Amino acid sequence: MDLALDLHWTWNHATDALWRQLAPDIWDHTRNAWTVLQNTPRHRMRELLETPAFHDLLTSLTQAHADSQQRPAWFETACTMSPAPCIAYFSMEFMLDEALPIYSGGLGNVAGDQLKAASDLGVPVVAVGLLYAQGYFRQELTPDGRQEALYPINDPALLPIRPVLDGGGDRLRLPFQISTGRIWLRAWQVTVGQTTLYLLDTNDPYNPPHIRCITTQLYGGDAELRLRQELVLGIGGWRLLRALGLRPDVCHLNEGHAAFAALERARGLMEDMGIPFMQALTIARAGTIFTTHTAVPAGFDRFAPLLVMSHLAFYASNDLHIDVEDLLALGRGGAPADDMNTPFNMAYLAMRVSGAVNAVSRLHGQVSRALFNPLFPRWPRVQVPIGHVTNGVHVPTWDSAAADALWTRAAGKERWRGALESVEPSVHALPAQELWHCRCLSRAALVAFIATDHSARACFHSGERAQCLPPPVFDPAVMTIGFARRFATYKRPDLLLHDPDRLARILTSAERPVQLVIAGKAHPQDTAGQALIAQWIGFLQRPDVHGRVAFLVDYDMSIARQMVEGMDLWINTPLRPWEACGTSGMKVLVNGGLNVSERDGWWAEAWAPDVGWAIGDGMDEGHDPRRDAHDADSLYTLLEREIVPLFYQRDADGIPQQWVTMMRESMTRLTGRFSANRTVRDYTRDFYLPAAAAYRTRLADNGAKAAAIMHWRESLDRLWHAISLGPVQATAAGDRWHVTVAVTLGPVTPDMVQVQLYADQPEGAPIIVPMTAQAGQASGPVSYSAEVSATRPPSDYTPRVIPHHPDVAIPLEAAHIIWQK
Ligand SMILES: *Cc1c(COP(=O)(O)O)cnc(C)c1O
Repeated sequence: MDLALDLHWTWNHATDALWRQLAPDIWDHTRNAWTVLQNTPRHRMRELLETPAFHDLLTSLTQAHADSQQRPAWFETACTMSPAPCIAYFSMEFMLDEALPIYSGGLGNVAGDQLKAASDLGVPVVAVGLLYAQGYFRQELTPDGRQEALYPINDPALLPIRPVLDGGGDRLRLPFQISTGRIWLRAWQVTVGQTTLYLLDTNDPYNPPHIRCITTQLYGGDAELRLRQELVLGIGGWRLLRALGLRPDVCHLNEGHAAFAALERARGLMEDMGIPFMQALTIARAGTIFTTHTAVPAGFDRFAPLLVMSHLAFYASNDLHIDVEDLLALGRGGAPADDMNTPFNMAYLAMRVSGAVNAVSRLHGQVSRALFNPLFPRWPRVQVPIGHVTNGVHVPTWDSAAADALWTRAAGKERWRGALESVEPSVHALPAQELWHCRCLSRAALVAFIATDHSARACFHSGERAQCLPPPVFDPAVMTIGFARRFATYKRPDLLLHDPDRLARILTSAERPVQLVIAGKAHPQDTAGQALIAQWIGFLQRPDVHGRVAFLVDYDMSIARQMVEGMDLWINTPLRPWEACGTSGMKVLVNGGLNVSERDGWWAEAWAPDVGWAIGDGMDEGHDPRRDAHDADSLYTLLEREIVPLFYQRDADGIPQQWVTMMRESMTRLTGRFSANRTVRDYTRDFYLPAAAAYRTRLADNGAKAAAIMHWRESLDRLWHAISLGPVQATAAGDRWHVTVAVTLGPVTPDMVQVQLYADQPEGAPIIVPMTAQAGQASGPVSYSAEVSATRPPSDYTPRVIPHHPDVAIPLEAAHIIWQK
């Protein structure tokens, strides 16, 4: 039972055999161990337990499970803090397994995969999310390619979750008072290896129907419903952690949806320490991390100020003891209080309550710095305080059984519990036949899946009778390519269809045939996205391509797994720079699949000529039809001239040596780099541990440091206008310039600021040289000077004054700045 309720089975092929023996049909169909257990008749269970082979298998798996929980993982050597910090991870969605359908796509994928990697690495994370009664919609299609959205109910009794109990063994219920009345939250827990995910829902019979429906659907409903979900997630979520006696040091906000958690965290500190809200927030902030995931302003959640006020007025005055206008100001980037048009932006709130912020790929870092520049007026874009941690996927979740066996032979079963780079040389050394054999087995498994799976059958329910196209009969020896993605216009799922005849010729070539597999859902309100699905359904019904194209209906985690395991080539065609990172292409790496993609998101930093192919010119422009034509042409040309020929260029043993060489480079160089294993280690080292230390510093002595910081910032706000800079003087001193500027600080003391010389660079980080004050001036302007290289004219360097405090993140927490005019 513990084995079945621990989602560890979702990424450990070792237990597959056990579940399959219990109920082969149910296991193959649902891949849900908990469902298997519940549907295995008792007599069958007894019978099996009396079979020595089954009994031994169960004992050894239970033992192995217990052992792996005991074994020290990476975190124990990486963290020297005592006691080890606790990290709370908040997300609207988690994609852990198809048996727990509380996800839509990319964001949930990132959350689920990082949680599993945290378990592997021993990083002490507790996660918080919502339990949706219907989750995200399920897809069906009509013969003319119209998408229908279905909402089957998730029966909590059949999900791999357990209710959270209170100290007395009763179900925990949390009261939550918003302006419109009191509601009750229920709590559930999911075991994900060594970590726990807590889920909240509002479907308590005590609640009125409109409250019970808050957690019915993911990304359904209107702005008001979304705001309520975010209140439950953020405020309810942090309250739940406190009710469980947890006091996390770090709170990681996976996207701005969860930003209210920081307010409730501050409220908890107010209660524990008897301090005012702003001081509590100053403490909490040091331990809060915000990861932004969108590349366009429309991706931010924005709410009308009146809506926010109507929901939060009571909370602000009763719980936080502040005016609701002050709360509103945190999400409105400096808009005046009486301006009721500027929306409340959850990403701005997240910036204002966090001590560190990151984007999810290098390119997305640049894009995000531009998006958030308005919060840092007069700061150069390159200095907007947003770093990046490129996403990665949880490799054991996405590897095929054949790839798992291959990597295990090369690097051992425990390879995912340490740093992944260490296993690369042993995989690189594998002979070509082994790599190619693995590829062929994985492709054959996908072909077999398509032949039997109902979703491939494009079964259309239209009115009185269901019409079914037979599943395409794919050939396990034929090159298999494709993609799966949300059908959103910026992802350009129709790019391959730009010239349908040219695509048909590629697919139906007599000597070098290609078979294409696609999948994807469009949001029920996205009619443009749905039209793109219809285009594909129209194409696959063309007689000349019949049997060469499969559209797998109802893209979810299990379809994704089948696809990324079997595919020779993964295609990704977003409109740069709209794909913040993208993860589906990373899932093929471990399985030896290759990528051809627009140089956007992760591929902009991963691509090299010997690991895959890039399309597009690597520039960012608007959505221009000429650009689509150009990108489509470059994709077709690559397929026709390079990619497909390379796949079919075989040696005497039937092995495409050059293709395998590329596979080997891609597998060994990219798998570890774009794994959640690497991502979680980056977060731990660069974000979690520093944030935990900073938080503890501000928390110490009943928040003394935080009080001093508040005092410092208030002084800056009050006195900053008094600062001014005089003219600059530059004199040559050998091969250097000696630059001097007179700075009037007024009542600001020199230790509160730093005077700097700043020069932009065409590429990379700007040049910033601190200037030092000349001693001996009692009053009036202070002379600051510095020396810089004379390779650039002195006019390239501009003096400026910025705040300075050893324990404060500048400019994130204090964005004051003044430049010499
Ligand atoms: C991996 C995955 C995604 C995210 O893929 P992107 O490349 O980020 O678009 C979405 N949905 C499912 C089911 C997935 O498995």
